[in-house]
Amino acid sequence: MNHMHTLHLNKGRESSLLRRHPWIFSGAIARVSGSPAPGDTVRVLDAGGQMLGLAAYSPQSQIRARVWSFVDESIDSAFLRTRLQRAIARRAGLLNDPQRTACRLVYAESDELPGLVVDRYGDYLVCQFMFTGVERWKQEIVQHLHELFPCKGIYERSDAAARNREGLPLSQGVLWGEAPPDIVEINEQGRLYGLSIGHGHKTGFYLDQYTNREAVRRLCQGRRVLNCFAYTGGFGIAALSGGAEHVLNVDSSAPSLELAAANFARNGFTPAQYENLTANVFDVLRDFRQQGRRFDLIVLDPPKFAETKVQFKKAARAYKDIALQASTLLEPGGLLVNFSCSGAIDMPLFQKITADAVLDAGRHGQILHYLHQAEDHPVGLPFPESLYLKGLVSTLD
Ligand code: SAH
Repeated sequence: MNHMHTLHLNKGRESSLLRRHPWIFSGAIARVSGSPAPGDTVRVLDAGGQMLGLAAYSPQSQIRARVWSFVDESIDSAFLRTRLQRAIARRAGLLNDPQRTACRLVYAESDELPGLVVDRYGDYLVCQFMFTGVERWKQEIVQHLHELFPCKGIYERSDAAARNREGLPLSQGVLWGEAPPDIVEINEQGRLYGLSIGHGHKTGFYLDQYTNREAVRRLCQGRRVLNCFAYTGGFGIAALSGGAEHVLNVDSSAPSLELAAANFARNGFTPAQYENLTANVFDVLRDFRQQGRRFDLIVLDPPKFAETKVQFKKAARAYKDIALQASTLLEPGGLLVNFSCSGAIDMPLFQKITADAVLDAGRHGQILHYLHQAEDHPVGLPFPESLYLKGLVSTLD
């Protein structure tokens, strides 16, 4: 006898699952049989009773279930261990490099572990459990992680708003082993960054910009750089490593810029080589325009302006505004490096926003490079939603 809970889909709603997209929205479900608790495994059947897969149930979320497997198998501790093992094995080439001591080990749906993020910073792992399915198996996941990836400690940063949409409380703290020190140091291509696992953004650092920091480094020789939304100095330190003449970091967060200052010192850079300005980028760009300030390369790496599709018009205006203002500050031959991490804004739209901004600034430009998130944040082929980071390097006449 089968005691399992079952989701019966509406007619025609099986097509995305047949393409192995893992999300089942509430509107796709005709009825639920059994009484699954949050995180319980449910069988998913199409309108004709055909089995489509096994999913974890999340009664409070619009995404009512996320698929664990598209074949009939046991969803248990051993299953999770295999999935974790596979995610780590995919990154084998990235994990033994003394000049890359930080890396995302698990990237959620793209690694067939919906809602789970695991980042490695040196001897510590930091996890985010953003879905009831992985929350239900937290203990097992933590146990497997330190067996599969020996480390000193595993820390949880499940404090993002997405938890609330799942009906889960925010949660932070040590899950296993030692608590990380206040500042953990990582090596990124010979550059050193100190980060705070307990207080930093996301899990502590923007690992997704790894390849893009390298792209910027290679463009900076002899240039005066304006690094907007500087956080803890990621692009600024890459710029000086690449021979930039000077870097001006702007961020509204004083604690982030304090960490940035420590990071510049950590890499042997002196206060003569950079300046930190605690201010709102929108104001600073306008002030600089009035003052006639000029730069040779400007990085714009703002926070996500659009959380959802609904906010996307407002976000598009904000991306355009900063790109326009920055364009007026660039010398002829200057480089604009602008990013969007809003999933709701795709590359063609971001390119159009940037083109309009440059045009309105009275400049002419060419795109030299299209940038995306680093390879440890892969895009699952059936899950294009996971491509969220876009960037353009444009040269302006
Ligand atoms: N470029 C960084 C990450 C930037 S995260 C890196 O590669 O590490 C976005 C940053 O923008 C955060 O540090 C946040 O404090 C800052 N920020 C958000 N809104 C801002 C605003 N209006 N003006 C200045 N900084 C802002």
